Amino acid sequence: MSNVVLEARDVTRTFMISAGFMRGKRPLHAVNGVSLQVEKGEIVALVGESGCGKTTLAKMLLGLLPPTSGSIHIDGKPIGSLGRLDIANVVQPIFQDPYSSLNPRKSVGSIITLPLKVQGDANPDTWRARAEEMMELVGLPRRVFNNYPNQLSGGQRQRVAIARALINRPRVVICDEPTSALDVSVQSQILNLLQDLRSELGLTYMVISHNLAVVEHLATRVAVMYLGRLVEQADTETLFSAPKHPYTEALLDSVLTPDPRLGVPDTHLGAAYPNPLDMPSGCTFHPRCAKVMGQCSKIAPRPIATDSGHVECHLYDEQEETGRLAS
Ligand code: SF4
Repeated sequence: MSNVVLEARDVTRTFMISAGFMRGKRPLHAVNGVSLQVEKGEIVALVGESGCGKTTLAKMLLGLLPPTSGSIHIDGKPIGSLGRLDIANVVQPIFQDPYSSLNPRKSVGSIITLPLKVQGDANPDTWRARAEEMMELVGLPRRVFNNYPNQLSGGQRQRVAIARALINRPRVVICDEPTSALDVSVQSQILNLLQDLRSELGLTYMVISHNLAVVEHLATRVAVMYLGRLVEQADTETLFSAPKHPYTEALLDSVLTPDPRLGVPDTHLGAAYPNPLDMPSGCTFHPRCAKVMGQCSKIAPRPIATDSGHVECHLYDEQEETGRLAS
């Protein structure tokens, strides 16, 4: 039986965006032919600069946004064949900013128990006990049950968001920059909590992060995204010790910024991040690539299988050719 819990199959998402005054609308390919499998128990990290399509892909995996083409599957079933509540029972999100993701007018208790109400849990008498059990698991004191989000610290708010996401015991959690809005001193506590919860509850994670230190600490596998494509996938140790794609190398060489909105500094990337409405031809990374070759601006590279994933780069065309000849 397959261990794949969540899967994107050749998924594309296009938005029609205004190109400016009197210039009409143009297609923006936010996600452009992405295939990704998340297996039970994995922590798959999705990394890349702001605007590369990470959050759009996550929304499609959560069933919040339909793909323009391709398909999303949960336990092998097309997401379109599942109801909203069926999806929510398997996959839940944890968002970046606990300040804005919690309703300030609701108490901690009502925030955490809301998913039970939405799911039509038949026994309201058990809600408080289940919420308190979850609060204990995420390290929240029971005395804050009747408090409001503005009475909590940033770390406590993120714990509330985690408790809310987990109360219906989903199997997969998609964490979008789970620590970037928090003080540095609290970030490692939340990361350790996520790891503990994974072992305790048998969770599978997809973690979206621009922070490679977080990724190296947490992930078992890494997918690198650039302008809507997954340009490299590998297990974490391989990716950090022997990156193959020039963009991955540049990311690893970059100085990290604490704010994901700042993206990755361009100091190692030559040119600025391209306008996604005006994609470069061929390999879309070619204007910034330190290893650009003649064919790179003309021909888009195809995915080439590697020992633990894939890479999309003409530098490895020969390897693919050799592999094909040998097989
Ligand atoms: Fe660089 Fe060419 Fe590889 Fe693109 S295909 S990453 S431009 S070497």
